[in-house]
Amino acid sequence: MNTVKILTGSSLLFGAAVAGCGEPQVPPPRVPVAQAIRSSAPRPTSFLPGPRPKLVVVIAIDQFRADFLTRLDPYLSEGGLKQLRREGASFTGHYGHYATYTGPGHALLLSGSYPYINGISTNKFFNQASQRSEAMVFDANAKILGLEKTDPDMDVSPRNFLGSTVGDELSLASGGQSKTIALATKGRGAILMGGRLGKTYWMNDDTGEMTTSTYYQRALPAWVTAWNATKVADSYFGKTWDRLLPAAAYATSMADEAPFEGGSKGLGKTFPHTVNGKLTAPGPAYYEALTMSPFGNDYELAFARAAVEGEQLGARGVTDLLAISLSAPDLAGHDFGPFSQEAQDIGLRTDRQIGEFLSWLYGKVDKREVLVVVSADHGATPVPEQMAAKGFSAGRIKKKTIGDAVEAALVEKFGGERWVSALEDPHIFLNRKLIAEKKLDPAEVQRVAGEAAAGIEGFGGFFTRTQLLRGEVPDTEMGRALQRTYYAPRGGDVVMWMLPFYFWGKYAEKDAGSTHGTSYRYDAEVPVLISGAGVKPGRYGTREMIDLAPTLSYLLGVATPAGSEGAVIPLVREEQ
Ligand SMILES: [Zn+2]
Repeated sequence: MNTVKILTGSSLLFGAAVAGCGEPQVPPPRVPVAQAIRSSAPRPTSFLPGPRPKLVVVIAIDQFRADFLTRLDPYLSEGGLKQLRREGASFTGHYGHYATYTGPGHALLLSGSYPYINGISTNKFFNQASQRSEAMVFDANAKILGLEKTDPDMDVSPRNFLGSTVGDELSLASGGQSKTIALATKGRGAILMGGRLGKTYWMNDDTGEMTTSTYYQRALPAWVTAWNATKVADSYFGKTWDRLLPAAAYATSMADEAPFEGGSKGLGKTFPHTVNGKLTAPGPAYYEALTMSPFGNDYELAFARAAVEGEQLGARGVTDLLAISLSAPDLAGHDFGPFSQEAQDIGLRTDRQIGEFLSWLYGKVDKREVLVVVSADHGATPVPEQMAAKGFSAGRIKKKTIGDAVEAALVEKFGGERWVSALEDPHIFLNRKLIAEKKLDPAEVQRVAGEAAAGIEGFGGFFTRTQLLRGEVPDTEMGRALQRTYYAPRGGDVVMWMLPFYFWGKYAEKDAGSTHGTSYRYDAEVPVLISGAGVKPGRYGTREMIDLAPTLSYLLGVATPAGSEGAVIPLVREEQ
């Protein structure tokens, strides 16, 4: 019901904006449709003859910068990422939206659509209807299985995702026979790759078990219940995470004990890290520590094996999709930073874990009938204090600084109080009720708020809701990125943009570690490796991430996902 209301509001807003300025001013997407049609690339079709893969495996490494592949290269295993690069197609993928967070990245990955269409514009937003901040994939109409209470900050379902994914199109094209199974320890990573029709599983941090929500099913299937009974999460309790390779192999990273590393959840700042959450027996703090360690990947891949067997993926005569988002590299990356030895080590271990999983999988499903994609949902920002120590301009912007500056400016200009409803980076949500009560021009209030915040060190500028709805943004990469990211029903009143190496939000409230979330290249560029059925090996330069989903749809002979604005990359072996 909420969705219907919100959509109506959105079309009215856009309608008003268009009527007000003569013609729509929304800038064209970076890869316009016209260009895709002129391209010599093969056109998507549902009628491409030839065999289809039986199984598509998409592995999104949560937080994996494009340059990680180069930095890790001398130490990669023969059977993991290197093998995929050697046997398949590879390119640097560029995310063209602004808020390069887990939700938007995973939503774009298999839909080829930007947040302004798919609705997943950040990880959290201020819901105007409920007047509170909520997780972007919270769903008031569904409950997480096994929890007494499903809170608004929890990831629950894809109901806020609009359009379709590659997995959805596989299902639609096969009369519902194709299955999509998506999993992660972090809910949103799994939920957004699972689309509307997949079945999705993530970790219950209280119990260490995999769960789902009533959006998908009323009870867990027998194979999930049986897997949970084996208590896989508990099997890593008290284990230590040490360096995989001799210390000399980590020379391109920072010292092990680098300043401004987090070392939270009892992990400590230096190797070896004991994974017990400072508990004497498995419990919630331990499960959180587990998800920040390489054992989190082992946990997920053990569940993926159970999913392949439990659902008979790739063995049923249709094309199935298995989507795995490896959450641990992100959680470790946030805590230790992208140039830490921990980030390097978890990268090296992820490479080997993927290699071992694929080798197991090829024993179940003929390798020639498997299509594998490995990529990431976003990159990572260097730890600002470490950059500042090297002489760069860098820093954290605290929410209180922003809130105080905006509040003071609005009180001074317009009187009243409590002008700021919420701060959910990169959005400032203003008190719209107060603006209406005082009969003020929203555009003017937004401008005053934006100017107040823009005076804070680290911000480069801002766009108001009014400007974004009217498409009044400059034809620059920053302008296009912000326009592509602004989904009006969940958008704030002011959208701030940061200078390079600065950030605000949840991770800026801490005094250690780092994050991601801008359109700067360290956040926006990720590796893409595609290997297997139908793929022509080769290097394909830099491509837009919105091209990935249409390319997969073409390889699979199904319709391109609804909101996709990308083009098919000519990496298709035509003799198939
Ligand atoms: Zn992420």
